[in-house]
Amino acid sequence: MAINLDTYEYIIKKLATANATLVAVSKTKPIKDIEALYQIGHRDFGENYVQELIDKQLILPKDIQWHFIGHLQSNKVKYIAPFVHLIHGVDSYKLLQEIDKQATKIGRTIDCLLQVHIAQEETKFGFNEAELQQLFASNLQALTHIRIKGMMGMASFTEDAEKIRGEFKTLKRLFDIYSQLEFRNCTLSILSMGMSSDYKIAIEEGSNMVRIGSLLFGSRK
Ligand SMILES: *Cc1c(COP(=O)(O)O)cnc(C)c1O
Repeated sequence: MAINLDTYEYIIKKLATANATLVAVSKTKPIKDIEALYQIGHRDFGENYVQELIDKQLILPKDIQWHFIGHLQSNKVKYIAPFVHLIHGVDSYKLLQEIDKQATKIGRTIDCLLQVHIAQEETKFGFNEAELQQLFASNLQALTHIRIKGMMGMASFTEDAEKIRGEFKTLKRLFDIYSQLEFRNCTLSILSMGMSSDYKIAIEEGSNMVRIGSLLFGSRK
């Protein structure tokens, strides 16, 4: 059995106490692994790569809610716009504009999360605090076919739990500030933080959506 169903049940119970949603991160994993979770009722799956997501979406049941959690290039938005449920990694105004443009073309409104840079590593994408401020001061309301539903962040890759906790606290603080806004296309209610190694800390710090891959599906090559 490729899927660890006991772990799945454990995570689901744990998340229920915090009213949090599980996005099962199925990147690099075969169709049959996704089907195994689908068969026991799971519907939220996350993928990182556009081509892989398109291939899987084509084959799998249409009521799956696909979360795009990777770094999205503007020129690829059009391929996932017709079906994507939530884009977690929006990290520029330019990308928001492109999502809005493609959504407008096909008459959809696409839900997005702003990725916030909370880790120490240089390589992680996302807005910093000043850039968030700039973004919310810009003409977001002109983007009629997107909805900013919340924020997403990734903590540093470290064993240091207190460091991770501190980074999650930073994200929660920013989330609390901007979730007070009520623009028509901007009501922040989703806080996507926590992965296999740190989801328990994330839940304690106020996450209501976790993205878990290896803990469920086994480690990736
Ligand atoms: C791969 C990935 C995850 C899941 O990672 P695991 O450690 O396997 O749980 C979560 N979020 C993002 C953005 C990812 O790229």
